[in-house]
Amino acid sequence: MNMIDTKAFAVSEFLSQPIKMHIGGEQVAASGGRTFETLDPGTGKHLATVAAAQAADVDAAVEAARRAFNTTPWRTMPAKDRAVLLHRLADLIDQHTALLAEIESRDVGKPRAQASAFDIPHAAQTFRYYADLSANARQREPFAVSGNEAWSVRQPYGVCGFIFPWNFPFLLVGWGVAPALAAGNTIVIKPAEDTPLSALLFARLAEQAGIPPGVVNVVPGLGETAGAALSSHSGINRMSFTGSPEVGRLVAEACGRNLVPVKLELGGKGAAVLFDDTAVESAAESLASAVTLNAGQVCCTATRWMVHKKVADAFISKAVSTMGGMKIGYGGDESTQIGPVVSEKQRRRVLGYVARSVKEGAEAYLSGGVAEVSGYQDGFYVKPALLGGAPGNICARDEVFGPVAYVMTFQDEEEAIALVNSSPYGLANSVWSTDLARATRVAERLVAGNSWINAHNLFPHGVSYGGCNLSGCGGGVLGPDTLEDYYRKQSVVRPL
Ligand code: NAD
Repeated sequence: MNMIDTKAFAVSEFLSQPIKMHIGGEQVAASGGRTFETLDPGTGKHLATVAAAQAADVDAAVEAARRAFNTTPWRTMPAKDRAVLLHRLADLIDQHTALLAEIESRDVGKPRAQASAFDIPHAAQTFRYYADLSANARQREPFAVSGNEAWSVRQPYGVCGFIFPWNFPFLLVGWGVAPALAAGNTIVIKPAEDTPLSALLFARLAEQAGIPPGVVNVVPGLGETAGAALSSHSGINRMSFTGSPEVGRLVAEACGRNLVPVKLELGGKGAAVLFDDTAVESAAESLASAVTLNAGQVCCTATRWMVHKKVADAFISKAVSTMGGMKIGYGGDESTQIGPVVSEKQRRRVLGYVARSVKEGAEAYLSGGVAEVSGYQDGFYVKPALLGGAPGNICARDEVFGPVAYVMTFQDEEEAIALVNSSPYGLANSVWSTDLARATRVAERLVAGNSWINAHNLFPHGVSYGGCNLSGCGGGVLGPDTLEDYYRKQSVVRPL
């Protein structure tokens, strides 16, 4: 078992040696000793060398997960006993918040304070939520039929594969795998190549909590190698993918060929609709915070701001002063509000979108660009941008995935609804109004998995969060139905 001794365990020690895969309870080098490098986005410099899993390593991880499913008590133990272990895991995550937040901050670039206040505790709470839900779930339910005795029984599927993106590596591991584990499945995780570290620590914590070796396996590696091998593996029973629609299609195609059920959590182009009766200044502050959270690399954030014509000037002026006054800096600096984006590639993407948007005629209220951070000249920092204009502009349509918002104005409710619903994405939108009847009416007409009222980015445990259309399919996360997704329902019938 790979215990983490918090006192002896130093971040620098973890990072100083090549970090291995986690398969069957062992830390294992990748085939051929292959590795890849991750960078600290805040410094632009080397952070860690990590094993690059090959197809044969993914085979080994799936085999280990299958063995754990068939031979350890994980699947067969009473749900409440599994729940005890998941509660222990949640407690261990809480006890290691400082360590996990440090690793997450250096791997993603995000403010450490945000990781320790939100990403890590919210993930821990997700394990508690599903532990309790599964402990109270009915394993058998009778059917009321005549002539037969019949019931359904909830069984775990077996081996579940998970592929994650780089923006919330630890949080998404929690949201993704907690219901699968609570239902008694075993798992293989492929974290993003930009941010593989916290998932590897997660596997060690799971075993320290008493979860049998082989239940949690992690194969860091490149998408086209490790990710493709996992999603096309005929030995998995379920697949979950979180990432871009482009890769989501490839994963769904691969799963389709093997007839493996797949859940896709994809990108977004969220809108905020602000009516003229809303408290403009506080709404502008809230949306400025939302669009700069995690340097704007949030799938459900509001990047299209639809503002009623009457209040547009006041709103834009407050948004510009709030966004323009934010402290951009290194994630480990306590005063940092906006950290770097995850990579130079991502920075070029964000800057390119802003330039194209302006070229297409957008007005730049806040023009963005490269941010210089003293002492961190090689980091991937960008300034927030606030653009505005016609709805056909590239920044009104595409997911930028950076601290960039695009303002459009409207005159009436129908126009606002049509504008929001013109996007092929359908993840999350918000409506801002003191008229709750109107806010409710509009919230329910926006085509997306989630509508929020007078706030943006709300993730309470027990409320399903997921997308429709280009934002995903096959179920969401965080709700009671997500636990159901990880049970294979079987009926049993006996003639009377
Ligand atoms: P991405 O699609 O490029 O990569 C996601 C994962 O897929 C990575 O682990 C990557 O290695 C892997 N991958 C790449 N090629 C693959 C292949 N051929 N086969 C299998 N796996 C492969 O996405 P990203 O850039 O890491 O993340 C950003 C995207 O994720 C954005 O679109 C964002 O909106 C979305 N996202 C969605 C949610 C949600 O809950 N809906 C949450 C977070 C991020």
